[in-house]
Amino acid sequence: MTLKQPARYPDLADPQARPRYTGISTFFRTAHTETLADVDIGLIGVPFDGGVTNRTGARHGPRAVRDQSSLLRRYNAATGIKPFELARIRDLGDCWIEQPFELTGALAEIEAFLRPIVEANVIPVSIGGDHSISWPILRAVAAKRPAGLIHIDAHCDTGDDYLGSRFHHGAPFRRAVEEGLIDPKRTIQIGIRGTTNDADMWGFSRDSGMRVLDMEEFHDNGWAHAVREARHIVGDGPVYLTYDIDSLDPAQAPGTGTPEAGGLTALEAIRLLRGLRGLDFVGADLVEVAPSFDPGTLTAFNGASLLFEILCLVAEAWDARKPK
Ligand code: MN
Ligand code: MN
Repeated sequence: MTLKQPARYPDLADPQARPRYTGISTFFRTAHTETLADVDIGLIGVPFDGGVTNRTGARHGPRAVRDQSSLLRRYNAATGIKPFELARIRDLGDCWIEQPFELTGALAEIEAFLRPIVEANVIPVSIGGDHSISWPILRAVAAKRPAGLIHIDAHCDTGDDYLGSRFHHGAPFRRAVEEGLIDPKRTIQIGIRGTTNDADMWGFSRDSGMRVLDMEEFHDNGWAHAVREARHIVGDGPVYLTYDIDSLDPAQAPGTGTPEAGGLTALEAIRLLRGLRGLDFVGADLVEVAPSFDPGTLTAFNGASLLFEILCLVAEAWDARKPK
């Protein structure tokens, strides 16, 4: 006896061949692979939330985003970008953590998982997980040359030690500057807002030379202003894009660990991302989707939708670097 086996289309050559809601979830219904041959861009789940300072649950983010990403289609109707035609995009599975209760060990595992991917010239697009994962990812991505950073978030995440830990989701970009992984003068942080623990909680951002475009400035001047500033700050060099879902207003992204009122709409975020075409992206991540606080899968769906925009940017960057 054989099970029903319709013709396979591992790279979705025919999007009509089976309904989008069927099959085992992978990011954007891409083929899952555990080898790096024939891969240009690797989508990687990082189910780790040992670095959160408040509500946990982002460890469940990759599964939820995989599931919701299956709703999305092949082409970007607004920009005309066809990411799956520009690059060979695969789901590399999860960087699952063997020692999830050991924070520094877990972060080292993430770096070790990412390094061979970067060394194989595969661009990593990682889905967390909490924001602490960006530091070990940057250790792999920016090992040879500091990257510029476009960081969209309600929080600067440039804090210092907290509750006895040097590594948590409020500190990755301070650690990255200290190690020379990112150039603070080529770093912009967009969407910053909310209450703080002290008057100068994000002083490191200012003192190190980062451009902080807070939510007030964004609201007063709009997404196009943020695009201009981001392009001006990061320039032509390599740039990493990190997207914290809590940058969105909690009305559109309630499922996250540290929500802050008064954030971006999904449309503003999409338009901001679309304005970043042509930059030299060397990697990206989407973090802090916490399904346990996400009634109706709204946050995971908006996260998947933003991830598609990010994938379009990275696919264009890969295509631009490809020897012609
Ligand atoms: Mn963050
Ligand atoms: Mn945040």
